[in-house]
Amino acid sequence: MKVTILGTGTSCGVPQIGCHCAVCMSDDPRDKRLRCSVLVEKGDTNILLDCGPDFREQMLRIGFDKVLDAVFITHEHYDHVGGLDDLRPFSYMQNLPVYADPYAATHLRQRLPYCLVEHKYPGVPHLRLEEMEPHEVVMVGNVKVTSLRVIHGKLPILGFRIDDLAYISDMTTMEDEDVELLYGIKLLIVNALRHEPHPTHQTVRQAIEFSRRVGLNVPTYLIHMSHHVGLHAVEDALLPEGIHLAYDGLVIEI
Ligand SMILES: [Zn+2]
Ligand SMILES: [Zn+2]
Repeated sequence: MKVTILGTGTSCGVPQIGCHCAVCMSDDPRDKRLRCSVLVEKGDTNILLDCGPDFREQMLRIGFDKVLDAVFITHEHYDHVGGLDDLRPFSYMQNLPVYADPYAATHLRQRLPYCLVEHKYPGVPHLRLEEMEPHEVVMVGNVKVTSLRVIHGKLPILGFRIDDLAYISDMTTMEDEDVELLYGIKLLIVNALRHEPHPTHQTVRQAIEFSRRVGLNVPTYLIHMSHHVGLHAVEDALLPEGIHLAYDGLVIEI
């Protein structure tokens, strides 16, 4: 399975508009953080996890020219769904399934009615919204996707286990029964906003602790980072073995 981390930034991305901090001014491409999304490719099956406002640019950067089989959405906040309209090239030949929990699905129907009504205007993306409860399993080709309950501040959202990969964004906490569903994974992609505590996102330290809850030595990459995380070259070297800051365009084979 080939995992491409398309974006690693928090909701406003890095650089942040108008900011002149060392991270936002850095020349290191690893300090440029588009909004969070991951592409999973296994055999002929291609799955997108979250579809933020940078989706179009992310697809162009990696030159992706294949079919997308399904999209899984963690929650309805703009930084995770702002690119859904740009799924047009992937939905000419099919009603592209987009999985979201019932709460997020309700919001998406209100926000993108023209993509989700029965009789669509020509040219709009043909999306088929599929409601997915936590702990449901969906097979996409030969890839097994299990949804997990993630708590984002006070908002219950979804995370996903895709075969032996876990993608968890915008988490503050997770119940033990959901952590148990992650046992045995070979790669954890999980959010870490900054070092200081935040009401709706994990810190770097909390992300490290979460990785340990999932298992010892689970290869872990941090996403959804703000400029407050610091410079990639400095901060990545300070992390425990096996835990890294992700960067945009990073490809991992598992
Ligand atoms: Zn977010
Ligand atoms: Zn900055």
